[in-house]
Amino acid sequence: IVQLSGVSKWFGAHQVLKEVDLQVRTGERVVVCGPSGSGKSTLIRCINRLEKHDSGSVTVDGVELSENTRNIAAIRREVGMVFQSFNLFPHLTILENCALPQIRVRGVKRALAEEKAMSYLKRVHIPEQAHKYPSQLSGGQQQRVAIARSLCLEPKVMLFDEPTSALDPEMIKEVLDVIIELAQSGMTMICVTHELGFAKKVADSIVFMDDGSIVEKSPPEEFFTNPKTQRTREFLGQIL
Ligand code: ATP
Ligand code: MG
Repeated sequence: IVQLSGVSKWFGAHQVLKEVDLQVRTGERVVVCGPSGSGKSTLIRCINRLEKHDSGSVTVDGVELSENTRNIAAIRREVGMVFQSFNLFPHLTILENCALPQIRVRGVKRALAEEKAMSYLKRVHIPEQAHKYPSQLSGGQQQRVAIARSLCLEPKVMLFDEPTSALDPEMIKEVLDVIIELAQSGMTMICVTHELGFAKKVADSIVFMDDGSIVEKSPPEEFFTNPKTQRTREFLGQIL
């Protein structure tokens, strides 16, 4: 459903993506890891055009990303994204945070949008927080709202960029558990994370990036026990 072919990206003279090829099938769960600055965030941001690639092609659900703003809008409707920071609207309640994008992006009627918001807040196990404001919630709860808000738009693919790295340790699990449930429900996802226990549990494949390139893409069994390259071994040696 997502296909990158020969994707390159420069920031000034610095090439941060080097002819990256990546294919993600419908229902596939991909975890992306690699050292800081290797291009993980840039890679996933190119998939919904938060960053523009300079060469190669990015295709999502059969639509190739180009300068055509209609294509970009079409892809953004299919692709949900959750960041390290939760990016909730502070002046809106949790319910409104989840309902408003549906009203704005999809033209859903308010009553229906709120109904759907409640159903996704239930799925992330915090319906009781619906009428509070973001500042009244813990980080883990806010991140679960961010996930619910994204799911309300019924994306075909979910992108996560280090969704737990801004959280205190005791809140990491509640957020990972929600993402695990989502993975088990069959959602296609690409998740940048260093939570390797999570990766082992849900990933169909693990992508290891270094210096703007995908060094390896393997199933977790292989990735952790029999990495294909010396570079992967060194990386695993540092973090395991
Ligand atoms: P981290 O693990 O620290 O999040 P990352 O793998 O996500 O790292 P990226 O954020 O994709 O790495 O950055 C890749 C490279 O691109 C880095 O060298 C970074 O400094 C550079 N970079 C990222 N965004 C910009 C930008 N807006 N302008 C200039 N350089 C950038
Ligand atoms: Mg990053």
